[in-house]
Amino acid sequence: MLKISHLHKSFGDNAVLRDISLEVAQGQVVAIIGPSGSGKSTLLRCINLLEKPDSGSLQIADTEVQAATLTRQQETALRAHTGMVFQHYNLFKNKTALENITEALIVGKKIAKAQANETGLQLLDRVGLREKAHSYPAVLSGGQQQRVAIARALAVKPKVILFDEPTSALDPELVGEVLQVIRSIVDHQTTLLLVTHEMSFARDVADRIIFMADGAVVEDGTPEQVFNQPRHERTRKFLSSSR
Ligand code: ATP
Ligand code: MG
Repeated sequence: MLKISHLHKSFGDNAVLRDISLEVAQGQVVAIIGPSGSGKSTLLRCINLLEKPDSGSLQIADTEVQAATLTRQQETALRAHTGMVFQHYNLFKNKTALENITEALIVGKKIAKAQANETGLQLLDRVGLREKAHSYPAVLSGGQQQRVAIARALAVKPKVILFDEPTSALDPELVGEVLQVIRSIVDHQTTLLLVTHEMSFARDVADRIIFMADGAVVEDGTPEQVFNQPRHERTRKFLSSSR
């Protein structure tokens, strides 16, 4: 469903992703862990082409692109298969919760406003925020803003949702509600890639754990394998320092 082949990305002479190849099945929930600077965010940003890979290829569903020959149309097609949830929510500040969700439906997908609103309200229901439909981000808590951001990512029914440390900007007491919502959207149809430092959540929710270090996939296995029997010293060190 998602296939990454020989992906490379450098910033200047800093080689950040070094030959990443990865296949993820539809509906799989993959947690990506690893030290700061290992390239986790860059990998997610390359998957939706917020960053342009230097070389390699990407495939999501029926859209396959080669970094070397990427066109604008391919970029749009690939991005349409993805939704992204950022650490700092990145909601439109001048739009209500509902408008944040319906924007892509009305502007992007040309869906009539009444129908988009109906979908938007259903999504707000799913994240437990229907009563905040007409509130602006400024009056929502961080946890509520992130739940709106998740509803927004779901709105276009993406094949893959990319979460980049969705709870690490939150006050500790707000982390649980966001993790709860992430857990609730696991439907075995939508593929989830989740960069997180929440190890117990990763162990609990993910089908698969990928440990990255220095721009490479060092370890890739079930939570049981990676957490209980890591093959590499590097993984063991990381896990013992993050407990
Ligand atoms: P963290 O856990 O701190 O979020 P990360 O694993 O997500 O780290 P990245 O943000 O992908 O790491 O960064 C990997 C490397 O790429 C770092 O050395 C970073 O400084 C560099 N980098 C990332 N984005 C850019 C950019 N836009 N321009 C230049 N260098 C960048
Ligand atoms: Mg990051």
